[in-house]
Amino acid sequence: MNFAKACEILSQHFSNLTKNQDGQLASYIPELAKVDPTLFSASLVSIDGEIFSVGNTDQTFSLQSTSKPIVYSLALRELGSDFVHSKVGVEPTGEAFNSIIELEENSHRPFNPMINSGAIATTSLINGKSYKDKLNLIIDYVSELAGRRLEIDKSIFESERATAHRNRAIAYLMKHFDVMTSDVEETLALYFNQCSILVDTRDLALIAGSLANQGIHPLSKKQLISKDHTSKTLRLMFTCGMYDTAGEWAFRVGLPAKSGVSGAIFLVVPGQFGLAVYSPRIDQHGHSVRGRLLIENLVSDLDLNIFSKG
Ligand code: GLU
Repeated sequence: MNFAKACEILSQHFSNLTKNQDGQLASYIPELAKVDPTLFSASLVSIDGEIFSVGNTDQTFSLQSTSKPIVYSLALRELGSDFVHSKVGVEPTGEAFNSIIELEENSHRPFNPMINSGAIATTSLINGKSYKDKLNLIIDYVSELAGRRLEIDKSIFESERATAHRNRAIAYLMKHFDVMTSDVEETLALYFNQCSILVDTRDLALIAGSLANQGIHPLSKKQLISKDHTSKTLRLMFTCGMYDTAGEWAFRVGLPAKSGVSGAIFLVVPGQFGLAVYSPRIDQHGHSVRGRLLIENLVSDLDLNIFSKG
């Protein structure tokens, strides 16, 4: 891939989209409704470590659901794939991210780790002597992938914790079925914390770039995720990463991605680059409107859909 060309095309589409005001701020987490809706940034990171950013590049935002594949890869490292998948499946649901009907019929496992039930179940598996140890393990892991020490936005965390009645219902349902054996409130606090980790698009693009590079960080060159776990994470992002439009995304874009209600989306082009976009106005499916359009346009112009050659 010609990185300079990709940056040029990204910049063109970025400026074409700056005036787009479609979508609404997420409001079910009250703190997310307070952000400046005009914010817009994007970063591209090649597997060789070239970095290009455009827009409000210093602006941080909370990971929200973009944390799900990252913590899933951590659970694979800590517990192995067989154990993780004895607790959470690999089927797309076609349901919204926070659907209550997210458990398989007989096993009562959540369908996959990219929706709330599956992500909460995945987080519940993270081991540690204490709550603090578990939280530190998650923050350390995400920080190493981003390449700098990340912080948690405590007001977003508190805002979600105070209003997460639906996630609480999902978690208690899993506890009822013994799918989740850990303490519910502690697990939810860990999950809300992972969702409240603050990144900018450069951080998120470096995480995406590591996934594009078979788990090797594009700057430190350290193998942070094994090849096998990288591959499994990408497979689930491809089939389940984009909420109830995952099928449409696979059809139109044909690449693994993950979206979060803060307005973040990251895309992985295996063997080439990682891309992160932030624009907080989201559509009815929970995707950043400008983020989705930017990615679709770039992928189309660069002919990146893995099935485009038939
Ligand atoms: N923390 C959010 C929730 O669990 C994340 C949702 C999302 O980004 O899709 O509701």
